[in-house]
Amino acid sequence: MVAPVPVSRLPKVGTTIFTVMSRLAGELGAINTGQGVPDFDPPERLCDLVVQHVRGGRNQYAPMAGVAELRAAIAEKLQRLYRRSVDAQAEITVTAGGTEALCSSIQALVSPADEVILFDPAYDSYEPVVELCGGICRRLPLTRPDFGIDWDLLAATLNHRTRLVVLNTPHNPSGALLTRGDLDRLAELLRPTAAFVLSDEVYEHMVFDGRVFESVNGHPELAERAVVVSSFGKTYHATGWKIGYCVAPAALSTEIRKVHQFNTFAVATPLQHAIADFMRECPEWELQLPAFYQAKRDLLLRLLSSTRLIFQPTESTYFQLVDYSAVSSLSDADFSMWLLREVGVATIPVSPFCRSYAAEQRVVRLCFAKQDDTLRAAAARLASL
Ligand code: PMP
Ligand code: GLN
Repeated sequence: MVAPVPVSRLPKVGTTIFTVMSRLAGELGAINTGQGVPDFDPPERLCDLVVQHVRGGRNQYAPMAGVAELRAAIAEKLQRLYRRSVDAQAEITVTAGGTEALCSSIQALVSPADEVILFDPAYDSYEPVVELCGGICRRLPLTRPDFGIDWDLLAATLNHRTRLVVLNTPHNPSGALLTRGDLDRLAELLRPTAAFVLSDEVYEHMVFDGRVFESVNGHPELAERAVVVSSFGKTYHATGWKIGYCVAPAALSTEIRKVHQFNTFAVATPLQHAIADFMRECPEWELQLPAFYQAKRDLLLRLLSSTRLIFQPTESTYFQLVDYSAVSSLSDADFSMWLLREVGVATIPVSPFCRSYAAEQRVVRLCFAKQDDTLRAAAARLASL
């Protein structure tokens, strides 16, 4: 008997650039400033709480939508930071990371032939899920050099088939932020449409130079038609825990939960209890993140200022784009591979985030969620360029 050969549902998809770069960095012993992954630990108290809850017998299935104490703590945070009042029972769903929140939300909302608007560069997980649902991605380039929305293009693209507009603010990989004016403008454009908004805000607490982050959570008109996604992995330096949540009006949350209950059913119970306790004990945790990451950004940029790389300080996230056109004329994919193999520094090219990518762009992304010594070691190698 001959085993059947699968027909790929995602023929254009390979292994993500983040996985490829981290694996190669490990094999080659390179410094990994590629994938967005901290090389330091979550807060010690939070780790102790996880152990405490594992030892304390919190080891069986959590409620499908999330542990009540955690959802209550999230609701308090939404009120405190964004002045948004939510019904924690009906409007907050705890998910297996931001990734699952994005995936379950897209699956809940997108039917075959529905159109979904993505802005390029776009995080890599959105499009494959839309395609699995039979949806059609309309990818609109962000303007350069500021990575803003081209409003005329968006207005011209919206139509009766548009089901979803995917936002990512703070933006990976550019660090650009949407302003209050942007959110107002989007609300106005969407008013006559039946489109929903999926706002990927996993870097919500990493915003620099005194800027204020404008969340869709703080925009009542958009919030009525939006799913807002957050990640505890980013907020607590714990990307490996794969825990996050999404906030959406009750009718929308009901549909998302129908999918979530079959994607994961429920999320790791001891982690949920530990995070709920930590949020109550340390509500100020988020407040120190801007200074913490801004110091790392500033260190990296100070070190890079003696190299031939060109950059604009990133406004947010833990990513910095650098222009290497003074160093090499290789494409970004070839340059980051060369840099990894010859210089021993892993970076992420920008082209995998884009469908149409201007071949003359010479930009790669560096992650600065790293110990200062890691940043110093990476910069010392980059100084040889
Ligand atoms: N969205 C963006 C823009 C990201 O960079 C990431 C990081 N992996 C995610 C979503 C996924 O978050 P999580 O690790 O919580 O699944
Ligand atoms: N979000 C991370 C990044 O942009 C990668 C996460 C992943 O590897 N899927 O680097």
